[in-house]
Amino acid sequence: MQEKYPFYAIEPKWQQWWDDHHTFACDTADARRKFYCLTMFPYPSGNMHVGHGRNYIMGDVLARYKKMRGFNVLAPMGWDAFGLPAENAAKNKGIHPKTYTYGNIAHMKEQIRSWGVGYDWDRELATCHPAYYRWTQWVFLKFFELGLAYQKEAPVNWCELCTTLANEEVTPEGTCDRCGRPVTKRNLKQWFFKITAYAPRLLDDIEQLQGWPDKVRQMQANWIGRSEGARVAFTISETGDPCPVFTTRPDTIYGVTFMAIAPEHPLLQKLLTGTPHEKAVRAFIERQALIPAAERAADATAKEGIFSGFHVTNPYTGDRVPLWVTNYVLMDYGTGAVMAVPAHDQRDFAFARKYHLPIKVVIQPAGEKLMPAQMDDAFEDDGLLTASSPFDGRQNREALHAMIELGKQRGFADFTTNYRIRDWLISRQRYWGAPIPIVHCPTCGAVPVPEDQLPVLLPDDVDFQSERGNPLANHTGFVNTTCPKCGAAARRETDTLAQWLCSCWYFLRYVNPRDTTQPFSKDDVAKWLPVDQYIGGVEHAVLHLLYSRFVVKVLHDAGWCAASEPFASLFTQGMICKRAADGKLYKMSKSKGNVVSPDELIANYGADTLRLYTLFIGPPEMDAEWQDSGIQGPYRFLSRLWRRVWETRDLLQESAGTQPLIAQMARPERDLYRKLHQTIRAVTDSIENGFRFNTAIAQAMELMNAIDDLKIDAGSSPQAKAVYRAAIENMVLLLSPFVPHVAEELWGELGHQPGILTATWPECDPAALLADTVEVVLQINGKVRGKIELPAGADKAAMEQAALANPQVQKHLAGLTVKKVIVVPDKLVNIAAG
Ligand SMILES: [Zn+2]
Ligand SMILES: [Zn+2]
Repeated sequence: MQEKYPFYAIEPKWQQWWDDHHTFACDTADARRKFYCLTMFPYPSGNMHVGHGRNYIMGDVLARYKKMRGFNVLAPMGWDAFGLPAENAAKNKGIHPKTYTYGNIAHMKEQIRSWGVGYDWDRELATCHPAYYRWTQWVFLKFFELGLAYQKEAPVNWCELCTTLANEEVTPEGTCDRCGRPVTKRNLKQWFFKITAYAPRLLDDIEQLQGWPDKVRQMQANWIGRSEGARVAFTISETGDPCPVFTTRPDTIYGVTFMAIAPEHPLLQKLLTGTPHEKAVRAFIERQALIPAAERAADATAKEGIFSGFHVTNPYTGDRVPLWVTNYVLMDYGTGAVMAVPAHDQRDFAFARKYHLPIKVVIQPAGEKLMPAQMDDAFEDDGLLTASSPFDGRQNREALHAMIELGKQRGFADFTTNYRIRDWLISRQRYWGAPIPIVHCPTCGAVPVPEDQLPVLLPDDVDFQSERGNPLANHTGFVNTTCPKCGAAARRETDTLAQWLCSCWYFLRYVNPRDTTQPFSKDDVAKWLPVDQYIGGVEHAVLHLLYSRFVVKVLHDAGWCAASEPFASLFTQGMICKRAADGKLYKMSKSKGNVVSPDELIANYGADTLRLYTLFIGPPEMDAEWQDSGIQGPYRFLSRLWRRVWETRDLLQESAGTQPLIAQMARPERDLYRKLHQTIRAVTDSIENGFRFNTAIAQAMELMNAIDDLKIDAGSSPQAKAVYRAAIENMVLLLSPFVPHVAEELWGELGHQPGILTATWPECDPAALLADTVEVVLQINGKVRGKIELPAGADKAAMEQAALANPQVQKHLAGLTVKKVIVVPDKLVNIAAG
């Protein structure tokens, strides 16, 4: 041992020791209670900054803690390795995506190791590896078999750079979530997963996710977006074509004065041909197609429209009302057509005023009579129905059910539930993804590649320099194949699977990562799922987490996965931000120039110091501000701990065999002993309840102050030395999940076998917690003969024994016989003697 804290020597030593001893290898067959601790796997972008470390370090703290609590911990790590940046690197820098990706993986793995974060690397996986994507293709085939994967021509979100985007990849502002370019719509034949079929269960089962943040549960519920209402069969008056609507306000159905339809509604294409309105309407439609859907429908966007030349018939009233093509109705919500009730809907009201359309009041507020000509706004509140015979005079909400019922009996309306969620677009026109295992045969159609022919390998030799389109589609050796069914010449599907699909089942593969015969073992997955604790960024609140829930539910129904939810508990960490040159706080990014690399800090202060600062920086669920000077405090703390052990090493050794005994402690060591057990209780509680790692560290630091308060030297009593040693020893145990290298080293210095994770987490002794001692009065035959200090709450026998052993009492009892002892707890012992 040396005097100065030698992090540079001990950290690499212990990292090597953990590797050599397979400290984090998990035997999934082990019978102990399991704990599956999963941190979201990263996209291998290359270099990580200190902000990236936060979730890995937190996951590592939890995994180490659970190990010390006796759990069989599974903590794996891998790489979400397909995706666009690698493909762009190929296009822009001529580096093959594979070279780029595996190069980044090697570097990031080194960084994770240097943080002292322990994973079961024997289970490492990369979604771009054929041994993995073979089974992603298998997942696709399962969905195809179950009728949950299908192809359809659909307007897709289109970014000039990134090609097709899922709805989830479009920002609320209508730009590409990846590159910021504007997103437009294009019609393409695409592959979808039918997530809408699971919408009710995905929504209802949110109830089960009690270990998730409320915020995330709410975001998922909003994303699925259930609303109850009616489907009403309007028809085109001139042609009889059906033009159904979904409405949550069927109580206003008698007030419909026009219908608004989405520009991309297929019915329009059919109706318009050859009509006098065709030219003008088509021009309007084309103009709208250029505007991103989200922007078109935004509240702030001016409402625009054009009369189609057609009318629709309201089946409730028989009224013919005009059909308007408008910018504010979207094809992918409801039916793409909306009944407009200007008197009772503000958006419809504004539109009606602008285009001089009629307004018809069908709900009157109590004691008032609204006149359309005098209204400044729509009346959206509740009231009494009017002009709605046979429902006149009834409360609108109360009549709503009967109004749908009437339409149902007459065959033109029905109760229905509408969901906001759309089917999941899973195909991409890109190279760097898992090929969709489908062959298109002129005779047989879309034929799945037989399971035993998986994986459909991604060819390495493709041309990335061609200007447009998917490089895979230009590779004739890949494209040309034969039909698995009839053997005729056929064409391979050239779309690849969205990265989202690769990452929504990886937690199952970790359970049996090297199995070459199946994606995972049902039995093992039954044992290990759900994941006990999932840790990752809140930016995945709807996409990744919802897709993962969906895929697990489908696999559950197909008998592959006993659990029907993947993640029992979820923790979403806050971001680490730093002030940029302009003095404002930003998430760390190259463009803001506020990135802090962990590599240099680890070289100068050590990984334990960096870990401690990262955890101490603030409540883990909140964003926190990184300050370069902040690293000093944690560094001083660890140096102080180290120095203290070094300075008292002889003392610590000497007291190794002595048990602390409360009854024999003098006041100062009794105080430290109580503080120690208070700290054990507090740190444990901080970890167990809500990831309060910053609080746990603060509590450990307080204990350090209490240790310093106990003046200890070679002449101190054996009990003082024993308590001192117990405090240091437990301090090291409590700190070990946070600062594992220095904890391992000090554990060895205290004379223990290496491997602190095999030690047991300290238990709080309730007796040690007892409040201050109390002064107990000693009487003999009612006369005060002395006073003693006893631990508060001592039992009667202990008090009696202590009283009889007191020298003053013994002196006065000389020659007498004790007849009776009366004990008043915490106060008095009276001895009757004669
Ligand atoms: Zn883009
Ligand atoms: Zn065929």
